[in-house]
Amino acid sequence: MRKIFLGAPGSGKGTYASRIAPKRNVPHISTGDLFRKNIKEKTGIGIKAKEFMDKGDLVSDDIVIEMLKERIENKDCQNGFILDGFPRTIQQAEKLAEIADIDIAVNMCVPNDIIIKRLSSRVTCKDCGEIFNTLTLQPKQEGICDKCKGKLIWRTDQEPEVIKKRLEIYEEQTAPLIIFYKDKGILHHVTCNDLYQSPDEMAQKILTKIEELANNI
Ligand code: AMP
Repeated sequence: MRKIFLGAPGSGKGTYASRIAPKRNVPHISTGDLFRKNIKEKTGIGIKAKEFMDKGDLVSDDIVIEMLKERIENKDCQNGFILDGFPRTIQQAEKLAEIADIDIAVNMCVPNDIIIKRLSSRVTCKDCGEIFNTLTLQPKQEGICDKCKGKLIWRTDQEPEVIKKRLEIYEEQTAPLIIFYKDKGILHHVTCNDLYQSPDEMAQKILTKIEELANNI
């Protein structure tokens, strides 16, 4: 099953994808995480991407498409994958259609006020990329990742000005993908109106929906 999780930054797609992917036995592929790994390792991609990411801009299509293509050619993607944060532009979606058939696109519908609260209280593990939230998803030990014991940090793209820009870019460049996948007949919406809704419960709700849809494909 090849799935895409769509939604604004802070809509929870990464949090849910990381819980659902192991249950479906497929990798969770986050282009944001791939870029952060490249930045940490100071690769050519990382050096180019950092400039865009720090400002809240999208990394250019050719860089992200090449990186994604290489990732999904890996053996672990043979039975499918969940893409989180890709595609983010129509051009990326068109390219993706050339290299993989997507079965399901899940769109997270979350009001803007919840998104802003979530993004500004998010902390991310410096080592494994796991996401926590000082309001709704606190780590067991303050500042320490539950999964790998790495240090939890604020990301440079969480400054209020950068958050505003990321949301504007989402509206301009990524929201049109909702129509793109609706026209393909594979779009399904999931709504979260409650800032304090448990991520595990929400992930279960999405998983149930995906399993229903998968049975009908
Ligand atoms: P994310 O962790 O998905 O919120 O991504 C963090 C940042 O990485 C974004 O604000 C972009 O700068 C960059 N990025 C991630 N995925 C993409 C993509 N598909 N296209 C362009 N830029 C991306």
